Amino acid sequence: MRYISTRSGSAGAQTPAIGFLDAVLAGLAPDGGLYVPEQWPSFTREEIAAFAGRPYAEVAAAVIGKFAGDALDRDDVARMCAEAYATFTHPAVTPLRELHPNLWLLELFHGPTLAFKDVAMQLLARLYEKALAAQRRTMTIVCATSGDTGGAAVEAFRGRANVRIVALFPDGRISEVQRRFMTTAADANVRTVAVQGSFDDCQAMVKSMFLDDQFRRAVDLSGVNSINWARIAAQAVYYFTAGVALGAPHRPVSFAVPTGNFGDAFAGYVAHKMGLPIERIVIATNGNDILARAIEDGRYARGVVMATQSPAMDIQIASNFERLYFEAVRRDGVETGRAFRAFAETGSIEIPPAALASMRELFRGASVDEHDTARTILATFNETGELIDPHTAVGLAGAQRFALASGATPLVVLSTAHPAKFPEAVEAAAGVVPPLPRAGGGLADKPERFDRLPADVDAAKAYVRAFVGA
Ligand SMILES: *Cc1c(COP(=O)(O)O)cnc(C)c1O
Repeated sequence: MRYISTRSGSAGAQTPAIGFLDAVLAGLAPDGGLYVPEQWPSFTREEIAAFAGRPYAEVAAAVIGKFAGDALDRDDVARMCAEAYATFTHPAVTPLRELHPNLWLLELFHGPTLAFKDVAMQLLARLYEKALAAQRRTMTIVCATSGDTGGAAVEAFRGRANVRIVALFPDGRISEVQRRFMTTAADANVRTVAVQGSFDDCQAMVKSMFLDDQFRRAVDLSGVNSINWARIAAQAVYYFTAGVALGAPHRPVSFAVPTGNFGDAFAGYVAHKMGLPIERIVIATNGNDILARAIEDGRYARGVVMATQSPAMDIQIASNFERLYFEAVRRDGVETGRAFRAFAETGSIEIPPAALASMRELFRGASVDEHDTARTILATFNETGELIDPHTAVGLAGAQRFALASGATPLVVLSTAHPAKFPEAVEAAAGVVPPLPRAGGGLADKPERFDRLPADVDAAKAYVRAFVGA
């Protein structure tokens, strides 16, 4: 299986196609685009039907095997998936829970850091180790985090060979639970840094590290943000396990996905392209509603980021949307390159009518405000006894806008974080403090270790160089 850029041809020449492991280690393509498979792999109806009742790790190995092609042995893929999903505390890995008739929560938070980022990151770390050993290479991952990505990445990469990780987080702007998941790792290949600035400052620092060729080469810089292809591929797996548990491929299933960078929702598109019958995917945003507006009004236009109860989705540029756009313009790399280069300048794209119509065959968008988010947490608790986190509440409220659950098709809301990861918001809405489950045990007692830096890219580069010894 080869991977091509979404902007292929737009820089005057075709960007070369690359193999799976190179796509895993690559960030952006050299033309600024994102990598996607050259063709969509697919499963037959019989193959999908045979997933029913299989262990999660086996379905994962089948899906990842399709994307790896001959880049990895089947046995290696099976072993990596088995190890990655053994870190989850629930035997089903991502269990379904019925909330109302025909309306289900897909619990993606039973991994070591209690948010869905673990599903992809646990596998990604093992793919990195394999790819780096094969290439005899040591890389340095620098990641900016608004909370969940950093913890999941530190937990997945700590102690691994041939890779170091530096996580930058905005000092004082993430929850204590989120911070402790990063800062209590004692492994020698991990550094965590409290930056005296915002998440946007952290992200800008990482971006300018990538733009500095000399620095990038000196530390062999790598990124694990949500544009990484392996993360998307790993997230397609739970659409299959949930789908077959609810009757696919014999009947379709719909999903509602709380969205920020559009990675998780795009993984649903991938599962659909691979043959899973999905009737509808509702893209649910908080007040940072660029995606909901794009799908409903046809204009992808950046707004000003506002802070919400669901901070992992406080984003106004949804990086993975470029992959959907590329698909919707019939994989025209020149048009995709034009549109997204213009977006970088002007902050908006008018989606061509035919492309918008094709997006709307599968997707609808809903934006959920702060009041509705809190109301949904409370109503769910009162009606079902379940505490849900604010991101999940956005997904559920978005789904309810379309009253999909009243039809015959089962509706699955992706539950992306454990409520205990956002205790303040849950308590404010429902009046109950969600208890921290076993995976978070001892977190409060472990010593923390982190450094402090100003929001200054030169200081951060010097810090990373010193860590790496470059
Ligand atoms: C990252 C995150 C999201 C958003 O996922 P995207 O792939 O960026 O759309 C939603 N909920 C939680 C809890 C997250 O950590």
